[in-house]
Amino acid sequence: MTAPVTSLPFERVGIVGLGLIGSSIARALRKSGSARAIVAIDRDEAVQARVSALGIADSVTGDAAAGVAGCDLVILCVPVMANAAIAEQIGPHLAPGAIVSDVGSVKGAVVRDIAPHLAEGVHFVPAHPVAGTEHSGPDAGFAELFANRWSILTPPAGTDPAAVERVRALWSAFGSNVEIMTPEHHDLVLAITSHVPHLIAYNIVGTAADMETVTESEVIKFSAGGFRDFTRIAASDPTMWRDVFLTNKDAVLEMLGRFNEDLAALQRMIRWGDGEGLHALFTRTRAIRRGIIASGQETAAPDFGRHAGLSAPKEPGA
Ligand code: NAP
Repeated sequence: MTAPVTSLPFERVGIVGLGLIGSSIARALRKSGSARAIVAIDRDEAVQARVSALGIADSVTGDAAAGVAGCDLVILCVPVMANAAIAEQIGPHLAPGAIVSDVGSVKGAVVRDIAPHLAEGVHFVPAHPVAGTEHSGPDAGFAELFANRWSILTPPAGTDPAAVERVRALWSAFGSNVEIMTPEHHDLVLAITSHVPHLIAYNIVGTAADMETVTESEVIKFSAGGFRDFTRIAASDPTMWRDVFLTNKDAVLEMLGRFNEDLAALQRMIRWGDGEGLHALFTRTRAIRRGIIASGQETAAPDFGRHAGLSAPKEPGA
């Protein structure tokens, strides 16, 4: 359903946490004209100074309570486990009728941690843009980060539909496709599409780092054999990913159980010389990659679109 044009712009949008996602939202708000004023709220004085220098907000503060006052939309863009303390801090200062949203990569924990701090009359529309990079901080953001990516909204049952529509309109204005689902379903889907792949990347890069018979310089030298693509994912923000695994524990452990079973089956195929089995699986997985390219979520350019010897283009993340 297309959102009514009147749902945008917001009068005053407060963004808490001006990292990759928060600063990208600030830039996208500006570019799309979706906010009359943008308030950047960050605890770090160096980040505040950088945001002022970049000119991506109308005002900058370290005082979250003062910053959210008078906002009709507040978006929390901090690591998942930081949400509870911030929600407690800003809860009493939110304007009646304001919408609170977030961008956390896990949704069940976010709903549990934020909702209790919001007064009656404040609307809560959690969101997760399935877009990102392995970079952090206000300089890493860019307005186009969300274009042609999916944003998932997980409003609790009974949320005012008009508030949900305004948040949907905002993400549409950023160029995102929007889908609504329950927090539980979100966490299960993202466990297999994002969280377990990140864990596998962290693990394989860690294994290589601990090898004694293959030197570090050999790992780097021959990394284009496949390892290099894991290192991009394994360079993602440690705090953010620690929080993802600690807060989406059940779904990640469930998916890891399945992964381990399938890995054991692959091990057996190799041991028994089951070439047919290996070939059949690799044919199925190749079709999935082609489906992702066909849906516009990846480039078909050889080698992930890298230009010989240069860094990869910005790619979707968590
Ligand atoms: P980021 O670049 O590291 O920025 C995080 C921001 O949160 C920083 O400004 C940081 O300030 C602030 N922060 C951290 N801990 C805090 C605390 N305890 N209290 C107050 N502020 C705190 O991270 P990001 O990639 O933008 O991620 C932010 C959120 O987006 C996370 O919930 C993540 O799950 C979600 N997300 C990330 C991606 C991705 O690919 N990166 C994609 C989709 C969603 P300091 O500099 O002071 O630490």
